[in-house]
Amino acid sequence: MNISNYFSPTYAVARQKFLDACNALEIPVENHLNDEAKGAEGEELYMDVARIGPINASKVLIISSGTHGGEGFCGSGVQVGMLQNDMFTKLPQDTAVLLIHAINPYGFSHVRRVNENNIDLNRNFLDYSKGLPENPAYADVHPLIIPDDWDGPARAAADTKIEDYIADKGLSTYQAAVSGGQHIHEDGIFFGGFGPSWTNKTLRNVVSKHAGSSKHLALLDFHTGLGPYGHGEPIYVGNPEGLSRAMEWYGDDVTSPEAGTSSSAVVRGTIDNGVTQMAPNASHTCVAIEYGTLPVIEVLNALRADNWLYVKGDKDSEQGKAIKKQVRDAFYCDADDWKEMIWTRGISMIQMALVGLNKA
Ligand SMILES: [Zn+2]
Repeated sequence: MNISNYFSPTYAVARQKFLDACNALEIPVENHLNDEAKGAEGEELYMDVARIGPINASKVLIISSGTHGGEGFCGSGVQVGMLQNDMFTKLPQDTAVLLIHAINPYGFSHVRRVNENNIDLNRNFLDYSKGLPENPAYADVHPLIIPDDWDGPARAAADTKIEDYIADKGLSTYQAAVSGGQHIHEDGIFFGGFGPSWTNKTLRNVVSKHAGSSKHLALLDFHTGLGPYGHGEPIYVGNPEGLSRAMEWYGDDVTSPEAGTSSSAVVRGTIDNGVTQMAPNASHTCVAIEYGTLPVIEVLNALRADNWLYVKGDKDSEQGKAIKKQVRDAFYCDADDWKEMIWTRGISMIQMALVGLNKA
């Protein structure tokens, strides 16, 4: 068993490994084509969905990767490794597992957090009939986020103002202003969109079909970029009533942005909203596993650089290539020790989810 081999250097390779591993076990896979975009190598983009377990199972565990595009290297590696080791064939009774590979295939392929419309999908799952939420704190920092140049005086001036902002208000206030989600600037970062994205609609259909009548639904959504290097923080998301259940299943280190115990700021429009609405009669235990890569300010800077590159830069320039590497490094530590930490914690969390679901 070579853990590093579960992980892939590109979306296309990751997808092929996932499909091959499912094929070897004769697990059927649904391929949902995103016809609104193409991949970095011109390839077709798919959200692939594999279901294991009885069709009428009342307990369903959803394990998803790539909600934030390039963060998908991590979750894909765990999904592929568990398939290659045939770790889903002996499921508890009345239990199904739904593996969703590349919730945001555009971002995975292009190694971006956002989708083809610059939308952060974990800010997109809102009830749009109620109007768009406001984030005036983001509006204040938006002009600093996209300076006119990246290596010149405009950037230097913007950076000074950001440093002043952090010195005055604190890093966590800056993080909340920037990453809480915004629906004003479609060329900005952490933009949640003006309506449901392709992923939003597709994911809802998938959950409705495979878990719509479930009685107990658990979600483990894999992320990277927050917290200490390689550490997997279980962040509880969703209805408050499920938090104590999540702590029973996964232990006391389950954190909650609302309670201020998480490395994540409080955010709106996360995918669990869509998942839980499509399984309305189930109990919901939704957790994001967040693995650390680089310090948070470096991750935020990388996302800012990525946004600048696509709005004002040239991807094919030397500067563009350097930014692409910076962004990739913020999502994915291509190192054996990091992958081992991802893997060990990942399978442990999934096993705890299956035990917990079976007690539900
Ligand atoms: Zn993420």
